[in-house]
Amino acid sequence: MKLKRFLTFTMTAALGLSLLTGCGSSSSSSSSSDADTSAEVSSEAASEDTSSEDSEEVTTVSEGVLTMATNAYFPPYEYYEGSEIVGIDAEIAAAIADKLGLELQIEDMEFDSIITAIQTGKADIGLAGMTVTEERLQSINFSDSYATGIQSVIVSEDSDIETIDDLAGKKIGVQLSTTGDIYATDDFGSDYVEQYNKGNDAVLALVQGKIDAVIIDNQPAISYVAANEGLKILDTQYAEEEYAACISKDNEGLLDAVNAALAELEEEGTLQEILDKYIVAE
Ligand code: GLN
Repeated sequence: MKLKRFLTFTMTAALGLSLLTGCGSSSSSSSSSDADTSAEVSSEAASEDTSSEDSEEVTTVSEGVLTMATNAYFPPYEYYEGSEIVGIDAEIAAAIADKLGLELQIEDMEFDSIITAIQTGKADIGLAGMTVTEERLQSINFSDSYATGIQSVIVSEDSDIETIDDLAGKKIGVQLSTTGDIYATDDFGSDYVEQYNKGNDAVLALVQGKIDAVIIDNQPAISYVAANEGLKILDTQYAEEEYAACISKDNEGLLDAVNAALAELEEEGTLQEILDKYIVAE
């Protein structure tokens, strides 16, 4: 079971590495006029070009606006502060929108609805601590990866569950349609997996003793354990993953522009600053 998880990671990591190793390029493939221009400059000059000129060809659902779909119950990536949605994804999306000369608008919805919202043109981009998976790649494109995620296991402090294998035969809570849900169902069988619309609801069920464990991404797990007494996170990691923004397969122009913006944010150190602001090193 562990081997499979690491294979998944290897596959997704390969997809995200172009950004993490800093070789994301501001491709001009989305524009024939850009392509003409870049053909005239020397390859050395072209490689130094980190501008966001691609923004000229970017089309969005609503003109001048970058509509982001998320599920705002995933701290510290997205959560409410009063009536405002804040967090890592909100800030990264705002920085991308800024680079593209667009105004960011965030739409909160069930996690399960995000990909459909992108496919049906209700939103331009999904940022939701969303893991790159082969299955999701069948229906949408993913940008380069901007963060790494880990699937963790939360149990009550006095639980006899110590390892991943101890989860066999136990009731496991997950958030519907997340990778935690997919892996747990795959590994332990749907009879043992309780699906909840929000991660918070799964944690509540654990606190109330209705289930034995929750499999969820590590950062929200840390927030939930801090907010609820009597819980702990197992030392063992269930899976390692890559987070990326999802974009419609019909909008290659936006994909290129987002990747170019992400590469700039990486190079400028902005991406790391945003991550460090919300994720405190243990
Ligand atoms: N990373 C997990 C996934 O993509 C969970 C994301 C979330 O709950 N927002 O499935």
